[in-house]
Amino acid sequence: MRDKAPLPEVFLAERPRVRYEIDHDDCLSDFSEQWSEFAEANGAGALEPQQLLRRPLKQFITGKEVRELYSVVFARVRQKYLSISFPFRCDSPAERRFMRMHLTPGESSRIGIECWLVRSERRQLVPWSWGAKHETAQGTLMICSTCNRARVAPDRWEEIETALADLRLLEFEAAPHLRPLICDSCKVEMFERLRDL
Ligand SMILES: [Zn+2]
Repeated sequence: MRDKAPLPEVFLAERPRVRYEIDHDDCLSDFSEQWSEFAEANGAGALEPQQLLRRPLKQFITGKEVRELYSVVFARVRQKYLSISFPFRCDSPAERRFMRMHLTPGESSRIGIECWLVRSERRQLVPWSWGAKHETAQGTLMICSTCNRARVAPDRWEEIETALADLRLLEFEAAPHLRPLICDSCKVEMFERLRDL
């Protein structure tokens, strides 16, 4: 059955880049005009730009796992002063939107964030459970609580930006559960340090 409801506004296709910035507390400290439209389209309601400033970014991110995953990524950008790019999805009921996010470290632990649409596909509206079965990230993602790397294969631990790219973690409708644990090389290092005490 086709849904006769009007299609949601495809704001990103018309204005390809959304730019914003977060401060050391992950609160919005600056944003382009498109951000308020983005926030509104994602359910934040119509807000004046000054009402958006200093709001925690997590208020605009759906899902505990996705929020945790972003915290790991932000920590990595700040600790290493790294620029990171990775694919993610920002779907509407009628479209799959394949997007890309670029994070740039700034002064005082700020992070500049830029998102753009790479491609989109129309999709038939499907019952939620069918879509979920096919579009949910696999199970659990192990994150080493010492070095913050993620396990991408049984014997392979990678930096979070590699895991995001290889496993395409943020391209699914649901993010994996994060499970903190200690990776093998950190375990070895810890044992060696303990032995030397
Ligand atoms: Zn580790």
